[in-house]
Order: sequence, then C-alpha cells, then structure tokens
Amino acid sequence: MQKQNTILIYSGGMDSTVLLYKLLNDNYTVRCLSIDYGQKHKRELNYAKSLCEQVSVEHKIIDLTSVTELLSNSSLINPEQAIPQGHYEKESMKATVVPNRNMILLSLATAWAINCKASSVSYAAHAGDHTIYPDCRESFANGMNEVMQLCDWHSVKLNRPFVDMTKAGICKLGAQLQVPYEKTWSCYQGNELHCGRCGTCVERREAFYLAGVEDPTEYEAQAPTIEQMLETNWKLNEEY
Ligand SMILES: [Zn+2]
Repeated sequence: MQKQNTILIYSGGMDSTVLLYKLLNDNYTVRCLSIDYGQKHKRELNYAKSLCEQVSVEHKIIDLTSVTELLSNSSLINPEQAIPQGHYEKESMKATVVPNRNMILLSLATAWAINCKASSVSYAAHAGDHTIYPDCRESFANGMNEVMQLCDWHSVKLNRPFVDMTKAGICKLGAQLQVPYEKTWSCYQGNELHCGRCGTCVERREAFYLAGVEDPTEYEAQAPTIEQMLETNWKLNEEY
C-alpha cells in the first residue's frame, strides 16, 4: 500500500503530539507545521521543534508575527490582557480565542500540502474544544474539508481523527503510543514551568486525571494540587 502523506498542524501540545505519534504509528509520512503568531507561550514552538527532531520529522515554523496586529483582541497575544485562570467552560475563557486561528493555520498547511503533493492536512481538534472555540466544531471542519478540495486541482483532505474524542481519550491513546508527555507544552502563560491554573493547564491536568494516566508535568509551586482542584470541581479559588 502506498504511504499516506500528510501535513500536521503541530503546536507542541498534548493533542497534536498524540496525533503526531498516531500518524507515525499508522505509517504516514508526516511534515509538521507550527506558527509563530505572536503568542505569549512561544515556548511551545521550542517544544515542537525538539520533539520533531526526536522523531526525525520535517518541521517548519512560520513567522506570522507581522499580522499579530490583526489578532490583538486575544489574551493569548495582547500584553495588556491577562490570561484567564480556571476551567475552559467559563465564559472568561473566550478571551483566549484567536480570531480565525484555525482557518489561517489550515490555509497555510493546505498550501504546503499542495506544494509537496501531500494528500491531507491533519489537525487535532477534539470534542472538548467546541465549547469555546467555534473553529473546532465538526461543522467548521466539514466546511474546511470541502473548501480544501476545491482550492486547487490537487485535492487535499482534512484529516481530523480526534473530532469526536475527549481530551482524556486522547491522553489515554497517547499513553498507549508512549508519547513523552513531559516533552509537550500546553500552558498559555509564557513562564518557565506550566502555571497549572490557566484554562489549558486545567484541561491538561483534568485529562490526565480522567484518563488515569500519570501526569509527568512540572507545575509552578503555587499551583493548587489535584486534590484541591477536585474539591472545587476544577474551579479555582481566588487564593491561587
Ligand atoms: Zn498554564
């Protein structure tokens, strides 16, 4: 059987790293694309780079910082807006939405796919993302999939195998595939260690807990313990 060729949108986080390992395990030829869009958590790009080196996969980091000005209402980018803490379902988490991020990423990945005749673009959007990120919905993915097959004579499909999966399910799959989770980065704060309190840290911790997989992440000392988080049903107390 001919080897499938895909471009993976790769952030260096948990979900896209599990997808990278799954694609390699499914015998795909993978090229990874990461984007510098002026995010405060640029650290993720270094994590992405070293993981790609480790599994010997081609990796490109595209500099889109010149368009950051168009995306400045997101707290992931704007230095004057603090990253909200707590669970993703909170209304305040909507501040972390980057305008049209997935269409921008998918569009660039599609261009690269056409350029190197890859048959698909893969991304790791999952069921839990939908609450606040409209561009993670299945209907968005279906629409993009159609457009991607119309924009060139070379047809590129959108591969989104996690669209119905929970993050805990992805975490469990990654454990089976022996993903080195300590080498992935999720936190939206740009600090040395995972803060343990922002939306994506809370989601990461919750996923490990629900999946029954040991969490190897080193969190900042002032982060609440998992027991404290369970007590408050993943909501955070003011004191943190
Ligand atoms: Zn964090």
